[in-house]
Amino acid sequence: MVTRRALPLTSERPRRISILGATGSIGSSTLAVISEHPRAFEVVAVTANDNAAKLAEIARSVGARLAVIANSSSYGELKAALGGSNVEAAAGLSAVEAAAGQPVDIVVAAIVGAAGLAPTLAAVKSGAHVALANKECLVCAGDLFMDAARRSGNPILPADSEHNAIFQALDGEPHEEVERIILTASGGPFREWSSEAMATVTAEQALKHPNWSMGPKITIDSATLMNKGLEVIEAHYLFDFLPDQPDVVIHPQSVVHGIVAFRDGSMLAQMSAPDMRIPIAHCLAWPGRKSVTSRRLNLVELGQLTFEAPDLDRFPALRLARQALDTGGWATNILNAANEIAVQAFLGGAIGFLEIVGIVEETLGRAAALNAPPAPNSTEEAMFLDQEGRRIASDLVAARKIPAILAAGSG
Ligand code: NAD
Ligand code: MG
Repeated sequence: MVTRRALPLTSERPRRISILGATGSIGSSTLAVISEHPRAFEVVAVTANDNAAKLAEIARSVGARLAVIANSSSYGELKAALGGSNVEAAAGLSAVEAAAGQPVDIVVAAIVGAAGLAPTLAAVKSGAHVALANKECLVCAGDLFMDAARRSGNPILPADSEHNAIFQALDGEPHEEVERIILTASGGPFREWSSEAMATVTAEQALKHPNWSMGPKITIDSATLMNKGLEVIEAHYLFDFLPDQPDVVIHPQSVVHGIVAFRDGSMLAQMSAPDMRIPIAHCLAWPGRKSVTSRRLNLVELGQLTFEAPDLDRFPALRLARQALDTGGWATNILNAANEIAVQAFLGGAIGFLEIVGIVEETLGRAAALNAPPAPNSTEEAMFLDQEGRRIASDLVAARKIPAILAAGSG
């Protein structure tokens, strides 16, 4: 039985926060916001995958009660690093899930990938407000996730910048008055590159995002535009819009993050410097606001903002994501799983940049034979599909792998 908990006004007592994925890029932006308002927030639990030293340092510096490392073999290192402190150490996936379900006011869900689904669901079910950065949760089990959120009675607070913009612009407006929403995309580092040129890009080139500093997986997703595809799916579930209501527009300056277009012709946009501390602070302070030390926009200096249509021939990931959304929840789950494997393979030098989307497409084709139910109805079903998607994609990667001898000889 879920008990909805009202968020305390921050003047009553500090808001208690847990951070899943505290050692990552979103984790550190969250910690930066919290450090600006030490009396308003209190960190209860922090989790990470396997960087025990960094996790211990974070837990000590914020005075957390609990630090959990997903990789059990790092437990000894975490325990030792926390020696002499009052921070409790725990390890393993079930311990991450248990930490996510601890009674707090807000859980920041910032684990990368489908690995975040079970802990983030545990957070939703605990009655906490969830500040959601982990979009893959919605891509791999959107209906399941949003059902749990509706039962909790709390809104999901979107930390993803585009969705946070939409959330701000929607503020109390009647859902049926919305004609469409627009998610902006920077276009990534290869916005103006030909497909031929993109065929040979290296991981190092793809990891250089023009505007945002983020973790490696989302940075590659931004370069293929798969990130925007995942965000279209995220927006569909999060705001209960029809699959064709979210539109995507390329906006290289990354200043306008999202726009809501209403039936009366009005468009409401949210703008800010491209800095994740801004949407995160909005989630942590919601329904109020808290100051953030970040660059302010100078419109005169900016001079102009530009918008263009995405090129689906050069960036087919966006089309593939929309097709998966039209097909159903099983397909978005497979899309996500295959993409995680393909991105990892690209980062490891096993496949080329354009093959990321090729592998996702081929995995989706093969997964049709699984005859999966239209959408996963339980976490187990979602994780089963996810495993199947990973298995098929891994086989495809193995078959395409650049032989080490050729890779060595090609330079
Ligand atoms: P990151 O790689 O920098 O950090 C990921 C965090 O998750 C780390 O703390 C890591 O230890 C933890 N983690 C990884 N695998 C795990 C596992 N199997 N079990 C438990 N913990 C695990 O990633 P990030 O850039 O911070 O992104 C996190 C999420 O936020 C992603 O879903 C991403 O799409 C989303 N997001 C990120 C940004 C951004 O600016 N970085 C913006 C919008 C949305
Ligand atoms: Mg985003």
